[in-house]
Amino acid sequence: MASVTTGGRTPLIAGNWKMNLNHLQAIAFVQKLAWSLKDARHDFGAVEVAVFPPFTDLRSVQTLVSGDKLQIAYGAQDVSQHASGAFTGEIAAPFLAQLDCAYVIIGHSERRTLHGETDEIVAAKTAAAIGAGVVPLICVGETAEDLETRGASAVPVAQLKVALASIPKGSDFVVAYEPVWAIGSGQAATPEQAQQVAKALRDTIAEHLGDEAAAATRILYGGSVKADNIAGFMRQADVDGALVGGASLDVEGFSAIARYQKHVGV
Ligand code: PEP
Repeated sequence: MASVTTGGRTPLIAGNWKMNLNHLQAIAFVQKLAWSLKDARHDFGAVEVAVFPPFTDLRSVQTLVSGDKLQIAYGAQDVSQHASGAFTGEIAAPFLAQLDCAYVIIGHSERRTLHGETDEIVAAKTAAAIGAGVVPLICVGETAEDLETRGASAVPVAQLKVALASIPKGSDFVVAYEPVWAIGSGQAATPEQAQQVAKALRDTIAEHLGDEAAAATRILYGGSVKADNIAGFMRQADVDGALVGGASLDVEGFSAIARYQKHVGV
């Protein structure tokens, strides 16, 4: 089935597990997810599916995915801006590359809020990921207060601009627009709100890296995405997938989100 997004971008449905599921639970989860998608004859070429487990799960997920030749991609939830050295507790991007991580989430609002990650740190982490050959999935989004005082696009666009300065032309990267007020709240943005900000983000990429980069870059929406609201987002011209938190922890729910093309027309 052809992609429903424009620009020839392959949609990406990404599950951010946050600090949930240990490595044994991760193996069982990824196995079940693969079976669920296979049973439903999911076309992985048409819609890419990725999971983002905790660091300690990654080696197990790598072994399962490579051993069983699964088409599910995976990545980490964070990365150090440094390549090696005296940074206790940190994980370097080359380590993720060694684990065959396709992606790494950078600048999730929980990292920005709980761990004081600034736009500059997000930019440095983005550069580190790209340097190691891991595709950064850069999260941007406004708080409820930002929304009220500055509108929806101003903060995400400003955050993205700083990250874009660290991205060499021709690099593959993904942007996730995640309004902070929508994360884990059960109150998703409307598809129209998501489209409006995704378009502003795409225009910003065009300004900084050119039209080709803007057309090629996938922009996801994240914030209380579920199987019953994904279709509305995926109908939007500039929304190329979803970053899913809570609903990514339920195999059948996440599988249904990944198979949104079955219900996008209803
Ligand atoms: C997230 O944490 O990235 C997220 C989108 O969470 P949720 O889907 O639970 O709102």
